[in-house]
Amino acid sequence: MGAPESPDRRRVLIVEDEASIRQGLADVLRFRGCDIRVAERGDEGLARAIEGGWDLVILDIMLPELNGFLVCEQLRASGQTMPVLMLTAKGDEDDIVRGFEVGADDYVTKPFGVRELIARVEALLRRRPHALVSTFSFGPFEIDPAKSEARIEEHGAESHCIALTSREVLMLRILGQEPGHVVSRRTLLQLAWGMNNVDRIETRTVDMHIANLRKKLGRHGQIIQTVRGQGYRLCG
Ligand code: CA
Repeated sequence: MGAPESPDRRRVLIVEDEASIRQGLADVLRFRGCDIRVAERGDEGLARAIEGGWDLVILDIMLPELNGFLVCEQLRASGQTMPVLMLTAKGDEDDIVRGFEVGADDYVTKPFGVRELIARVEALLRRRPHALVSTFSFGPFEIDPAKSEARIEEHGAESHCIALTSREVLMLRILGQEPGHVVSRRTLLQLAWGMNNVDRIETRTVDMHIANLRKKLGRHGQIIQTVRGQGYRLCG
C-alpha cells in the first residue's frame, strides 16, 4: 500500500457496528495508506458496497438490519467481485464455512491482532484480479481506474471528468483493448460481471449498461458501436 498521498490509494469499505473495532480498523488501514469509508449497518454497507470502486470490503457478520452473510450474498448477486474479508467470532466454523459459501474470500476471527489483520488485508489486495491501477486510454478519454473516472481534454476548455462505476471501468478496459474488435455480450458478462455461467443471464443487462455508459460519455458516447447480432466495439 502506498503513502497517504499516493494517487492509487486502495479504497476499503469497513462494515462493522461495533464502534471500537470499526475505529481501530479504520485507523490502522488509514495509517497504511488506504482510503477508508465506514458503514455501521448491514443495509447501509450493502448500498455503499454495491456502488463499486472498492478494492476490499471488510464485513462483520452480526450487523443491524442485514447480517454480513446476506450483505455478501446480495453483493455477489449484484455482480461485484471485489475481495470480501469477513470478521467472524472465534472458533465458529459454521460461520467461516457459510462465509465462503456466500462469496467471502477470507476471514479473520475476533479478537484479531493488528499484524494478522494487515497480513490478510495485504494478501487480498495483492491477489485482487481486477486491480486496475494504471490509467489507459479509451478513444479521446483517459481512464483512471483508481479514481473510477474518465478524463477528457476538450478543445479550448479545461479537462473534464466523468465519474464511472468499477464495472464501467472494466467494460471500457475490455472494449478498449483492441479498438475495432467486436466483443460479445457474453464476453462482457463473463469479464465485467465475473459470471462464469452466463447461459441463463439476460444479455439485455449488458445493453442497459452500455446505454448508460454512452450517456455518461456525452457527445463521444457513439465511440461505443453496436454491431448487430454480435456485440459492441470501440470505434477504431
Ligand atoms: Ca457486530
